[in-house]
Parts: sequence; structure tokens; C-alpha cells
Amino acid sequence: MRFETLTIHAGQEPDPTTGAVMTPIYQTSTYVQDAVGKTRGYEYSRTGNPTRAALEACLAELEGGQFGLAYASGLAATDNVLRLFAPGDHILAGNDVYGGTFRLFERVFRPYGLDFSYVDTTDLGQVQASLRPTTRLIWLETPTNPYLRVSDIAAIAEIAHRQPGQRLLAVDNTFATPYLQRPLSLGADLVVHSTTKYLGGHSDVIGGAVIGADSALRERLAFLQNAIGAVPGPLDSFLVLRGIKTLPVRLDRQAESAATIAGFLAKHPKVERVLYPFHASHPQVDLARRQMRNGGGMISFVLRDGEAAARKVVESTQLFALAESLGGVESLIELPAVMTHASVANSPLAVEAGLVRLSVGLEHVDDLLADLDQALS
Ligand code: PLP
Repeated sequence: MRFETLTIHAGQEPDPTTGAVMTPIYQTSTYVQDAVGKTRGYEYSRTGNPTRAALEACLAELEGGQFGLAYASGLAATDNVLRLFAPGDHILAGNDVYGGTFRLFERVFRPYGLDFSYVDTTDLGQVQASLRPTTRLIWLETPTNPYLRVSDIAAIAEIAHRQPGQRLLAVDNTFATPYLQRPLSLGADLVVHSTTKYLGGHSDVIGGAVIGADSALRERLAFLQNAIGAVPGPLDSFLVLRGIKTLPVRLDRQAESAATIAGFLAKHPKVERVLYPFHASHPQVDLARRQMRNGGGMISFVLRDGEAAARKVVESTQLFALAESLGGVESLIELPAVMTHASVANSPLAVEAGLVRLSVGLEHVDDLLADLDQALS
């Protein structure tokens, strides 16, 4: 089945008891046992819940994986992946990752003995040269948050797997979603999502996911998911499932509007540079066009007059709401250096102060252009 059909049906048979077409919200913590230990498939909702199971099956199919696991947030998903490793292991990460991911790596896992280093993953030579005998994981975001740098997933998977069984490649696919790119088919071992963003799509839920193809990894991660317990509730699982149904339609329109807005910003005299994967000026535009179905709905741009000008713009828009997060139907604007990426301030990953990030929503593109035009002037 094609992607659009999977978004509607994958993991979502009509409910066997009632015939309900929409997956019911199984708002229950526990399940009756017909005899001691004789369950009907579920025993306790931290371990498993039918609404969550539908979401997990759907996510697995969308990413072309063998399993999906859903979490209470994107960071909870990342946390579970990191717990596959042991003190002394080295993790090589991109040097432009979501600020909360960096904070989790540096302030939670480094004190427990995991070692991290950060490289420009758009440079394959640097990736290769930065591997150590102890490197067990390459952590990739592509496109990155907030610089929208694009890395070659297939080439990095090949580097990661040169010594078989030595290391994994995990790709945070939050910005692209499986509609734009499917990292597992390019050789990645794990895909991680903040389902809070495009998969949920309506800024009304916090969630995360891990998808993979290997059954041994599934077993270890499912154990961690249950043992640690950072699972989404049934209502949140339902909201993500419902959001997924319109993902391709939303992302097609958001990308179309984003391309138009990127073109407008690139010509604006107050804008020093625009960062959009499918814009001709993007340093990895050829790779982006090869690897992704469209350019996505995220744009960053840098103001010629730096931080003060950037603050002015983000505080002057009327339609673009000044807010963190992304991927919803409404357009958002923010200053990563002091908002989403404040936790990388004063680190090598710090974001320049004049950079503005846009999440393009589903409003009419002419209204969005008019809003940016008045804010920039
Ligand atoms: N990964 C990326 C690329 C993100 O942008 C975010 C959040 O902004 C996360 C992970 C973390 O997800 P959550 O906020 O759902 O924990």
C-alpha cells in the first residue's frame, strides 16, 4: 500500500468488539484475567494498551520497520535509546541537534559515564575521522534543528556499519517525517521521533517514538519502555494516530508554502541568508532533493542586523505565533538562541542570536507572506 493509504489504515482495523471505525481510546489501566496469568493479550497499560498498540503498529509501517514503540515524549524516546549503552561507550552526534537532546546527552548521560562528541555530519570525512573503537552509536538529525543542514543517511549508515555489529545509526526523523524520508530504508538501525511535531500535527499532544527493524533491538527497547515506564496515555496515542491520517496532505501544503516563503525571504534586503533544504542557495540542496520528497515546512533565516532585529521580527508578527515547538497546523516563529536552544548557549553548538526559525502552518500563504512582510518592515 502507498504511504497515504497506510496513514489511514496501518495498525487500525475497525474495532473487533464494536466495529468502531476510529481506534477506541482504551482508557484503562488494567485488564481482567480469565484465570491467573490467562490474559486476553493485555495485562497492564504501562506494558501494553490497545490504543498505543495501534499507534505503534502504524508507526512501524510508516517507517518501513518491524516494530514501533511509543513514548510520553520525544526525549523519553531518546532516553530509552541511550540506555542501550553502557559507561565507557562513545556516542558520535551531529553538531546541530535539538537543544533538549544535547542537554539529555551532556547533563543526564555524561555523568553516568557515556561519552559524547559532536561533528558536522554533512562532512563524511569528519564523521569517519571522529569514530573511536568505543563508538557504539551515531546520532543523526537531518534536516537539523535549527540550521536545517542535511546529512547523507545512506553514506553515514555505510560508515557506521563498516565493522559489522559494532555500532548503530539512529536518525531523529522529526523534521522530515517518514513522508519525506525513510531512514531505515537507507540503512539506519533506529528512527526516533518527537510525535509532538508533524505526526501529531495539531500542537495538542506531547509524544515520542522509536522504530526499528531488528528483533533483538525490539526486545531490549520494549523491556526498557516497560521497565522505565515513560509511555503515552491512550488519549495521547489516539491524538497522534488521528494526526497521522492527514500527514501527507498537511506536509505537501506546508512545503509548498514554505518554498514560497523561503523565496520571499531570500530576496528580502533585511535577510542575510535563508536556510531551506530545497532552496537553491542551500549548501546541500542536491542531496536534499535526492533524499527527501519535498523541502518540509521548516525555514530558518538570519537577519543582517543581528539579535535586536531578530527580536523585533518575532515580536511583530500577527499570524505567526511566538512560541516554541513546530509541525502544527498553525504557523509559529521563534528565536532558537534564547528559546528552543537555550540549553546549548555557550557550547560549541550555540545558535547565532540573529537566527529566526519558522514553522509554516496551513494558513493561506499570501496571509503568511503579508505578515512576514509587515514584521520585517
Ligand atoms: N527532536 C527534535 C528534532 C525536536 O525538535 C524535539 C523537540 O522540539 C525533540 C526531539 C524532543 O521532543 P519532545 O519535546 O516531544 O520531548
